[in-house]
Amino acid sequence: VADLASIPCRACGAEAADAEPRYARVQDAGPPLGRFETRLVQCRGCGFVQVSPRPTPAALARHYAEAGSASGAVFRETGAGSRHAALAARRVRFVRGALAGLGASGALLEVGCGRGDLLRELAPAGWRAVGLEPSPSAAAHARAAGPAVVEETLERTTALSEAFDAVVAFSVLEHLDDPGAAADRLAALCGPGGRIVVEVPDTRRPFEGVAEFFAFEHLSHFTPHTLARLFAARGFGLIALERDAEHSGIAAAFHRGPAVVETQDDRDDAARAIADYAARRAELEHTLAERLAARIAEWRTAGARVGVYGAGVHTRFLFDLAPLREAAVALLDGDPAKRGCRILGLPVHAPEDAGALELDAVVLSSRAFEDEMAARLAPFAAAGGEVVRLYR
Ligand SMILES: [Zn+2]
Repeated sequence: VADLASIPCRACGAEAADAEPRYARVQDAGPPLGRFETRLVQCRGCGFVQVSPRPTPAALARHYAEAGSASGAVFRETGAGSRHAALAARRVRFVRGALAGLGASGALLEVGCGRGDLLRELAPAGWRAVGLEPSPSAAAHARAAGPAVVEETLERTTALSEAFDAVVAFSVLEHLDDPGAAADRLAALCGPGGRIVVEVPDTRRPFEGVAEFFAFEHLSHFTPHTLARLFAARGFGLIALERDAEHSGIAAAFHRGPAVVETQDDRDDAARAIADYAARRAELEHTLAERLAARIAEWRTAGARVGVYGAGVHTRFLFDLAPLREAAVALLDGDPAKRGCRILGLPVHAPEDAGALELDAVVLSSRAFEDEMAARLAPFAAAGGEVVRLYR
């Protein structure tokens, strides 16, 4: 059982009791946290949405230290035309736009640079790129490709003392226990004429798939207004805002000074979006559970060998939804790092092994990556294998 604690509003400091419940769902975090109810609450004072109660920072650190929990991604096809490639191109374009006019040289820091795939492209020509990444293996990978990488977390970094011309953080703020303290750190790392660029999931556009959009790892749920206020409180005004409907994201750029782009109080929109999401997701789960149960019964009768594409969070949710675990003999995953591992009690193989494993059918676990997964299984399908799409 997870170690949970109720917390005050991380945006305005209002007491834990001064918040409206907005959403609740039992999630299985895998070991060591296990199953617990994730609750979203909205502050009555400022409208900020956050998870409370939540696992303590120490409990979360143990969660992230577990190899099986470390990656929420089932699929990272980075080739031309892929979803990840499109997202990367969008991020680079937004950052370049935010840095326009800053000059021919400068220093850019990417907080949470991971394996450094984007870091090399983010800095304009003539700029120096520096990464901050707490994972030793990811940092080593990024460093091997050239950029300087400091192996620390944003909260604890002491090695970075310089002021950067650009401080960039994609998919970072929502994971941190105290986004205010994180914003303080970003502000401190940003030089006088510099820019801060952040991207967070858009609470007003939750994407419903079998994997929970409001996953417990996301502790803060921002809207354009609550994000703008977080930085405004630190003297940083919003200069550019982009809402990416396809990836349910908000990208925002800030400078030290007054806002150029205004936002309106959007707390009611957030509350409505969460309620609509809850209803749509319940319906989706019901449909998927029924469809899967019927197929699982057929597979069992026929003695079919079934694989599931995706050794990650989507499959974990699918196993929760229907007795697919009992019908499955293997997992397939595009991530080479997962091959040879046992995840969710099943061996993980490459998608190209579907034929060699003599599978009769492969279930595609992810909605967002369904097309890419199906494309990768085209040879398997051509040889008579059944590719099971859940979403259409
Ligand atoms: Zn508040």
